[in-house]
Amino acid sequence: LKRDPRYGQVTKEHVDFFKGLLGTESAVIDGVTNENATDDIEPFNSDWMRKYRGHCRLVLKPSSTEEVSKILKYCNDNKLAVVPQGGNTGLVGGSVPVFDEIVLNMARMNNIIEFDEVSGILTVEAGAILEVVDQFLASKGYIFPLDLGAKGSCHIGGNLSTNAGGLRLLRYGSLHGTTLGIEAVLPDGTVVDDLCKLRKNNTGYDIKQLFIGSEGTIGVITKAVIQCPQRSKAQNVALFGLESYEAAQQAFREAKGHLSEILSAFELMDGGSQALVRQVTKKNSPLEGEYPFYCLIETSGSNSDHDGEKLQTFLEDVMEKGIVVDGTLAQDETQVKALWSWREGITEALGHLGGVYKYDVSIPLAEMYQLVEDTKARVEEAGLLGDTDEHPRVEKVLEPFVYEWISKRQGSISAEHGLGLAKKKYIGYSRTPAMVGLMKQLKDLYDPNAILNPYKYI
Ligand code: FAD
Repeated sequence: LKRDPRYGQVTKEHVDFFKGLLGTESAVIDGVTNENATDDIEPFNSDWMRKYRGHCRLVLKPSSTEEVSKILKYCNDNKLAVVPQGGNTGLVGGSVPVFDEIVLNMARMNNIIEFDEVSGILTVEAGAILEVVDQFLASKGYIFPLDLGAKGSCHIGGNLSTNAGGLRLLRYGSLHGTTLGIEAVLPDGTVVDDLCKLRKNNTGYDIKQLFIGSEGTIGVITKAVIQCPQRSKAQNVALFGLESYEAAQQAFREAKGHLSEILSAFELMDGGSQALVRQVTKKNSPLEGEYPFYCLIETSGSNSDHDGEKLQTFLEDVMEKGIVVDGTLAQDETQVKALWSWREGITEALGHLGGVYKYDVSIPLAEMYQLVEDTKARVEEAGLLGDTDEHPRVEKVLEPFVYEWISKRQGSISAEHGLGLAKKKYIGYSRTPAMVGLMKQLKDLYDPNAILNPYKYI
């Protein structure tokens, strides 16, 4: 990658303009005229994984939509490239500059603007931290329809821009459904006010959807309206062992039938992953035997006894039918956490045992596990099974093999995290040339000078 000469260099004159506009000292981190600011700028230049690093020398922290609008208009007029940044927890290198793009950090726009306790409709600024918003909602008996491991740092605006999936997707669907309205600023400073608070609104193109998941390439999200569900009073969890992937699919079908609206999570773990968790944590498995597959089911409802009974009946039924071999139900809060740890502990366990390759992909259910079998066979064939010191060779064996495999089955090479810089060159495995062409046309329409988040996927 080379720096695009179309973009201007940030000068003292530009910095003076931004200082005048934003007023307060803390809103501008200036490494252009002040060489001592390098350390302060560093966290905005490197991503959460410490894998991607930019060379920006100016960070701007606006406190209002009006300020965002004036910043973008000025940058657009002066051809200054800008990277919108939320909590900087993205996993594809999309939230940090590549060269010297200005970072537009949204942390100061963190107000909860309005919450309607009857409808559950929340209006919030883009820089609000997910966990803070969720805690506010908890105090009102509601829940944010998204939860993920980075909740203590990530912003609502970042969640929308990446269309984050997370732990509550099975129950509450994606942000494309739960977002009722958005306010965003286009690169030329135009404020797109679509802060709609209605569940039904069929008036022409649903333009807000374009900002959801577009990773800061066509506008900066400044506010959002979210439909928040009632918080469930009761959580029940079961873990069970199965003999095959086919049985896991049958169990999923049965779980939907038995548990319908209270089913809030259905997680599949294979025997290999659970053996690793056992090895690293030295904990005893909650089931007596060892199985090729395990499933964890969570229900969220209004009455723990009722939900527990339903879960018990489900488990008895699937065991009787021979779908499930063995299972256990959590009896209290501690056991709920303990059962979840067999799922949540996988990432950490992998990290203890050498290099990790992660792909964040989506595959039609029927073929999902086949990817594991085929990848294992390929690595074995290449003589690399169990070899952790051969990174460059492992990578060659896996890529583009994994993407080709996904493409053949109409899967997605990016399920949740987006494309950013990491998957920029792989978009063609999941999108046709006609669709990529349309994306480019939209980019040109919204951002004709291409100042927003350049060098990334579009
Ligand atoms: P950033 O990382 O700052 O930015 C992400 C992208 O959005 C960038 O392209 C940036 O330019 C753009 N952007 C940010 N704010 C705005 C804005 N206001 N307007 C326009 N563009 C903007 N993701 C999942 O989907 N599911 C998970 O379960 C999940 N778990 C995670 C667990 C951990 C421990 C970590 C570190 C990450 C996880 N992620 C997960 C990745 C996920 O994408 C992010 O955590 C989150 O959605 C990004 O929010 P953020 O505020 O940090 O955005």
